[in-house]
Amino acid sequence: MTGTPETGDFRRHLARVGAALDALLADPGRPDALPSRAAWEPLLGDALPEHGDGADATVEALAETVVPNGTRMSHPGFWGWITCGPTTVPVVAATAAMVASSQRYSLTAFNHLEELSLRWLAELCGLPAGMRGVYSSGGSTANLVALGAARQWAFERVGVDVAAEGTGGRAVAVYASEEAHHTVHRSLGVLGLGRSALRVVAADDRQRMRVGDLERLLREDRAAGVLPVAVVASAGTTNTGVVDPLRDIGRLARSAGVWFHVDGAYGLPGVLDPRVAHLYDGLELADSAIVDPHKWLGAPVGVGATFVRDADLLTRAFTQEPAAYLEDSFDEGPPVVSLDSIGITYGDMGVELSSPARGVVVWSILRELGREGLRARVVADNDLARRVARAATTHPRLELLAEPVLSVCCFRYAPAGAGGADVDRLNEDIVRALLRETPWMPSSTRVQGRFAIRPCFINARTRPEHVDAFVDAVVGIGDRLAGG
Ligand SMILES: *Cc1c(COP(=O)(O)O)cnc(C)c1O
Repeated sequence: MTGTPETGDFRRHLARVGAALDALLADPGRPDALPSRAAWEPLLGDALPEHGDGADATVEALAETVVPNGTRMSHPGFWGWITCGPTTVPVVAATAAMVASSQRYSLTAFNHLEELSLRWLAELCGLPAGMRGVYSSGGSTANLVALGAARQWAFERVGVDVAAEGTGGRAVAVYASEEAHHTVHRSLGVLGLGRSALRVVAADDRQRMRVGDLERLLREDRAAGVLPVAVVASAGTTNTGVVDPLRDIGRLARSAGVWFHVDGAYGLPGVLDPRVAHLYDGLELADSAIVDPHKWLGAPVGVGATFVRDADLLTRAFTQEPAAYLEDSFDEGPPVVSLDSIGITYGDMGVELSSPARGVVVWSILRELGREGLRARVVADNDLARRVARAATTHPRLELLAEPVLSVCCFRYAPAGAGGADVDRLNEDIVRALLRETPWMPSSTRVQGRFAIRPCFINARTRPEHVDAFVDAVVGIGDRLAGG
């Protein structure tokens, strides 16, 4: 067996795996991988094979043994964290790209779609015209890249090329609310600014950044000679899905001469819902913004996007510097064939050189559904959160902990007269029972210290009847555990 791929193999192998995926998605029970681990683990092998099984047997094992024992995130009842199973077309696009264009570079249709889809994505999300983008693996990297641009800009304004020289130990600050995603904290560590540079701005009783508190922190730091690097606002927080007051924060950042970054990894597509679009007012003040197509847009995991006003800044922040192994392989003159040019030098605009072609994935979603199709999906998801909220408000033994803004609803089971740590513990048990006994898989969080059951609806396979059954299950399990 040589393992040499043969022409014509893809149709057969993808058909086999495709059938297994269809069967998986058609299974309403969607059994969990863990209880049957003893059955499937030995079938995957233990020692390194000396001689291979060959393509057919390997693909068969993939379809038979691996696929049915993956995560349950593609199930319509999965609403944990901010993650879900991707939809079909972008998965097909990603698979095609792996073979047809295994890098995003050179003058190909795939490279063209990197740029085109970033432009479409910016327009879809209501970003200011002229913002330029770059893809990366997700929100973690996208925030890192955006804050790298902010760091470059802030230091250039005091005459330092920070990418070349480092911070020189200068005291810096980045401002974000207590509800900000912790990838912001990590970015500061990676960028050499230090996690301790984060100024945590208090949130109000609706979990939005307190602008007055931000103003005070900026003033105190200025008086102390600290260099402000960026103000980070959230357009859709991870805990409760709220949008910070973007215009007030943006105005304040502008007037203080500080970079304004909007983390919209989850929530930026929320602007499509006319009922909440006004919350995004002020987005046009952003110097950078991120969105994760692998969240609300249903792309397979591994697609985030950073947008900035000034793409040259990204290059100054992230250039690898010229390298003979790259530069010398491209022609100086007008390109004649695709490999005469690397195309847009995305490898100098972030932290990845080798990178899959992700533009085709986002393009395929927007081409399949259009702005109106995605708007319908976002509106339907926001409706699901409101459906849970309505049930939580009207049912005598449910309590709404935060009015949904986007597609997250935080609520809990709260029998009359009960409170405090007991209700927290009861709801922890309810979430555990849901995951063990039912097809409904929310995650949890705390809202002002109180334990909350937290479904986040970004799953294109979820229907209202799934959500109704989930609410019934919460009440049923709650009654059983509380009455027990
Ligand atoms: C999910 C999320 C991130 C991190 O994104 P990953 O794609 O998981 O790396 C950052 N910010 C916000 C607001 C998020 O919801």
